Formats: sequence, C-alpha cells, structure tokens
Amino acid sequence: MKIAIDGPAGSGKSTVAKALARKCGFTYLDTGAMYRACALRCRRQGIDFSDAEALAACSKAADIAFGPFGEKTQVFLDGKDVSDAIRTPEVDKDVSVVSGIPEIRQDMVVRQQAFGAKGDVVAEGRDIGSVVFPDAEVKVFLVASPEARAHRRAVERAGGDTAKGEDVQVAAKDEQAILTDMARRDKADSSRASFKLEPAPGAVTIDSSALSVDEVVGQIEHLIEDARKAAAPAPEKKEAAPQAPKKETKPAPQKKEAKAQEEMRAFAHAPVEEYYEHPMRKFPWPSRAFLAIAMTGAWLYTKIVFPWKIEDMDKFFEGQKDDGRGRVIVMNHVSMLDPVVIAIALYHRHLRTRPISKSEFDKNGFVSWAFSRFGCIPIVRGTADIKAVRRAQRALQAGDWVLIFPEGTRIKSDDQPVQVHGGFALIAQMAKTDVVPVAIVGARDITPKGKHFPRPSRVYMKVGDPISFDELGVRKRKEQIAAMEKVSMERVYALRDELRREHPGKM
Ligand code: C5P
Repeated sequence: MKIAIDGPAGSGKSTVAKALARKCGFTYLDTGAMYRACALRCRRQGIDFSDAEALAACSKAADIAFGPFGEKTQVFLDGKDVSDAIRTPEVDKDVSVVSGIPEIRQDMVVRQQAFGAKGDVVAEGRDIGSVVFPDAEVKVFLVASPEARAHRRAVERAGGDTAKGEDVQVAAKDEQAILTDMARRDKADSSRASFKLEPAPGAVTIDSSALSVDEVVGQIEHLIEDARKAAAPAPEKKEAAPQAPKKETKPAPQKKEAKAQEEMRAFAHAPVEEYYEHPMRKFPWPSRAFLAIAMTGAWLYTKIVFPWKIEDMDKFFEGQKDDGRGRVIVMNHVSMLDPVVIAIALYHRHLRTRPISKSEFDKNGFVSWAFSRFGCIPIVRGTADIKAVRRAQRALQAGDWVLIFPEGTRIKSDDQPVQVHGGFALIAQMAKTDVVPVAIVGARDITPKGKHFPRPSRVYMKVGDPISFDELGVRKRKEQIAAMEKVSMERVYALRDELRREHPGKM
C-alpha cells in the first residue's frame, strides 16, 4: 500500500508521516530531504545557482541514502551523515531553486518510485499523490495556517517538538523570519512552471492548524481503513469461493436465510456505525420494515396536518447516467418538517435517501438508533469531517441518494445571516455525481414564536434541473467545487422565489 502525504512546509507532514509509518509498520520516505541533499551538494561543490545544467549534473551524481527512521530522518549524502546539515536556513533558501529544475525532479521521482516498489510506504512531499505515486491508495493534502506552520518550525529549530507538546521559548523575530521565508518558499513552490504545489486528484485535504498529531493520524487511519475495505473482494464473492465440497451446498431457501443471518450479524456488532457504513439496500429486513412503517405513518400524518405537494419530481432523474450512482440533493432549511416531507416524498418514489444530520443527534441513544435506520449519516459541523464525507461518497456510489441542507441551521427569517456549507459539492465531486436543487416554502411558519406544537399549514416543494460538473465551464477541482456551491444555492433560492410568487404569503 502507498500513502501519499503532500502539503506545504510546516503543515506537519513529517511528524504525521513518521507517526503513521510507525503505527502501520510501513517504511517512511522523506522526499524533501532528497531535494535538500541535492541543494547541499551543489552548495558544497560551489555550483553557480543560476546554472541549471550544472545544478542538474551535480544533483544527478548525488548518492542519497536513508538510515533507519527514528525521531529525525537520517540522511546520508555520498556516504556521509547530513541529517542536520540539510536543515539550515541556507539550504531552506537553496532548495526551491534545485527543486524547480525539471531534470532534477525527473531524476528524484525515478529514485522515489524505486524506493516505493520495495513495499508499503508512507511518502511525504509536494508531488507524491500527483506524480510519484499517482496510484497511491490514500492521498492526503495537509495544510495549516501560516502562523501555525511558522511556529512549529521555530520551535523545532530551537530544539523543541510541538508534536510532543514542547513549546520552547522562541523569539518573535525568529518566528517572523521563518514566516517570511515560508511565504517566499510557498510562492516559489506554487508558482513554478515545472511543478505546482496543489492537491492531487482524489486527495483529501486536512487542516492540521487546530489538530493534534494523533488526531491527524487518526483521520488518515480511517482513510486507510476505507481504502482497504474498498480494495477487499465483495463478501458475496468470498461466499462463492469453492471451498466447501459440492455435496454440502445448501438448498436455495436455506442459502437465502444464511445470507440474511450473515447480514444481520454484520450489523449486530456495532449497530449504529454499521448503518452509517452500509448502503441502505444492505440494511437488515427488520430495519427496512421499521423504515417502511415510519414512512407510511409520517406520510399519513403530514398529508393531513401539512398537506404537501412536490412539483417536478421527474427532474430528479433527468439526464441521469446509467452508472447506478445516486445524486446529491440540496435544499433550503426552514423547519424540522423539511427533512421529513422530502424524505417521505423520495421514499415513495423508491429512492433510498441518506439525510446528512448534525452529529449532536448522535448523542441520544434512541435518536441515533432511529436516525441510523432512517439512513442518516451524522456529520460534525464546522470541521472537515472526512469520515462523514467518505461515508456519503460510498453511499452515493452504492446507489443511495444524499440529502443535504447546506444552510446547516434552520433559517427562520429572511434577515437571518446564512452561511452556506459547501461540503455537498465536495461530496458530489468525490462520488462523480450531479447535484439536484430543491426548494421548500410554507414550513417556516408552522411553529410560531412561543408555541410548542406545530399548526397546520400547506407546504410546497419544487425540484430544479440537476447540475453536473461538466456544465460549470471550469476544469480545476477547487474551482469546480466553488462553482457548484454557488450555482446550486443560486438555483435553490431561485426555486424558492418562484414558489413564493406562486403561493403568496408562504415563506
Ligand atoms: O518538505 P521539506 O520542507 O523538507 O522540502 C524542502 C523543499 O523541497 C520544498 O520547499 C520543495 O521546494 C522541495 N520539494 C519538492 N517536492 C517534494 C518534496 C520537496 O519540490 N516532493
């Protein structure tokens, strides 16, 4: 297995990569140290740093080797230990010149790939996920605020280790100098023509500014777990392996029963988590029956108390590819009723829908039990909850649909500031699917101020045209995500305004 960790200087790559390699028993490859060794060799040989050809020749002749990895990366250049010599401000300055030369990069990439061919590896650098190991099973782009990065480097230079909680005294001017140099290096690393520092396709971005090393390592371990699951052969195939002699083959009905029991066992261990991990069609039959009863009851109740209507339902399926994937549905959020009525409407069109719910609901045993059966996937708000994003991605790929309220909280009046959470676009992009905008009106006024019980009201919903990434007219991943966030929410609000015009007085 290959794990690629890329990101700017000071984002915590080395510490995280080493801790992870140690935990998983993988080897560790510090590609930055290789460029540093080249820069040191060129400087020591008095090469003119404006002579790219000479720099390339000198670097290509470098014999670079690693010692067993401990606290520090042990690096040997032409047989001599240069572990400390490559971590000086001078090398910091020289290294981006050397790493900007395409011939040197090509040579280093070949060496790095040879290193990776030996077995499981955690490699860190700038281009691991995109160039060195584009087929890496797990790709992470680690970022942190400039201040956090400069502080970590300064503490490290002063002999401390922020990863261990050692926060030695660092002069403000030293930190400032590091900050300035980092900004310069970031600029050089991300603006050169030969290679730009940006997340590799398929990489998960983790912001380590406010996270401990263990937390970042934990998040990557989840990604590894996911990658392993995705690579494992489907359980059905395992069952079909011709291990048992033919005469023991069970008759069909018993086989079916055994399969159902197997399914139930899979859910018995850690019930709620198992529901988040499995596609809804794999839910055990008692849970599916519970959902059917709840949905029918809710349909009857809401049709009487909140007669609801949904327009243009067929648009959900418009232009849908034949790839078996579900789509992401985004909707404005005005009351507790929204997820209920849309979920009922979708259920009765035989769509298996996974509402993304706030993780606060997960704290109550009964609520989390029921929500898991409804197909909800909990998300920790205000963080990059990679686990939830991955679960939603897998659900979509398995044919479930994902329902998200990007406004996060219920919007009770038009003056209330709205902060749209863009995670839905990332989820749709990762699952390679479209986004369908939906709007709702009429539910905002069901519980007027001071009242605890909802009052009857007519509720209207409208479905918009599905939006695909191809139609956005931008190619870069980040730009696509930003465009999808913008276009989707504009459509949701346009639909809402149409509904308001069609049904005056409904908010
Ligand atoms: O990671 P570290 O700070 O030690 O890397 C030093 C320099 O090496 C970076 O600033 C960058 O210019 C270069 N580098 C690179 N590609 C990599 C690793 C490092 O260009 N894969």
